[in-house]
Amino acid sequence: MSEEDYYNVLGVDRDASKKEIKKAYRKKAKKYHPDKNPGNADEAREKFKKISEAYEVLADEDKRKMYDRYGKRGVKQQFGEGGFDWSDFSRREDVEDIFSEFFVGDRRRGGFDDIFSTFFGGPRRSQRPRRGRDLRMSLEVNLKDLREGVEKKVKLSRRGSCEKCDGSGSKSGRKKTCPKCDGTGEVKQAQRRGFQQLITITHCDECNGTGELIEDPCSKCSGNGYVEKRETITVDIPGGAKDRDRFRIRGKGETTSRGVPPGDLYIILRVKPDEKFERRGDDVMTDVTVDMIDAVLGEEVAVPTLEGKVKIDIPPGTQPGEILRLPKKGLKRRSGDGYGDQLVKVHVDIPEKISGRQEEILKEFKKIEKEKNRSWFDKIRGK
Ligand SMILES: [Zn+2]
Ligand SMILES: [Zn+2]
Repeated sequence: MSEEDYYNVLGVDRDASKKEIKKAYRKKAKKYHPDKNPGNADEAREKFKKISEAYEVLADEDKRKMYDRYGKRGVKQQFGEGGFDWSDFSRREDVEDIFSEFFVGDRRRGGFDDIFSTFFGGPRRSQRPRRGRDLRMSLEVNLKDLREGVEKKVKLSRRGSCEKCDGSGSKSGRKKTCPKCDGTGEVKQAQRRGFQQLITITHCDECNGTGELIEDPCSKCSGNGYVEKRETITVDIPGGAKDRDRFRIRGKGETTSRGVPPGDLYIILRVKPDEKFERRGDDVMTDVTVDMIDAVLGEEVAVPTLEGKVKIDIPPGTQPGEILRLPKKGLKRRSGDGYGDQLVKVHVDIPEKISGRQEEILKEFKKIEKEKNRSWFDKIRGK
């Protein structure tokens, strides 16, 4: 395991509870607080970011699940190309709770907001700029696609930014400053919380947080800043993904009004049932039927795999229902490297009609079998 492993970063077991993870984070966050590391603030800050990133993922059930299955790449893929998002993080209430402890009884400091602006830049918004609508759609894949993973093209119809006005909603670009917020897009309010005076910043509803009002609306979008769009996007489905797995694609949801960033697109994976293969975790199961005589004598037969047909040895004396194993012919393992196996269940075909000659031979076979048994009886009876 590499040093960057989130569990290692926080120093917890892989099966640690939420509480244990929070506790571990709290301890480390205090240790790397810059006030306690005046000599090496930069290093502490880097460390702090690392443990915060680990905490952000492991404290979130969905992200943790994704991380356990697919690693950091999986988390990035599902929760956005940019990977770790500090704005998501700063919204987390328990983080605020943890930070508030640093400043108990210390009125000179701004508390949580102060440390966040120190680390992540800018004051904390009590109300973030609104986001557009999320979209959900299902995507069907074959079991075969999930051996290695697959890139799928998805056609999308959504409300996106207007190209004519670049999403501004304005024809000429002529705009006037919003009088309500004085062009800042934000409205500030002072609030008291305990000993602290807290400045909260809310979004200006007059101009939708843009700080500007349009003088001449764009003809294409009537000043909305968005239009109906059709586009094709590529979705990267990892090998071993499961039915109903959810993939989040940032910014491919809908814009609901001018100046509002689009929501996200959620792709829900649907795995088509397969005629030949039955999934069992990372393994796949398939049936093969062999002739009675082949089961007795042994034979090489062709069986389908997720990558086409391969030959498999049916050993002499194979029983009906016996399961043979083709190593690494299953699906890519969801955790770590390698592949699952293919299990081949052997069915034995009994002929319904046989010729006179075949019957003769089988009767002869039966006679020999009886004699074999008799001589065995005689032997144990000592005759
Ligand atoms: Zn427009
Ligand atoms: Zn305004």
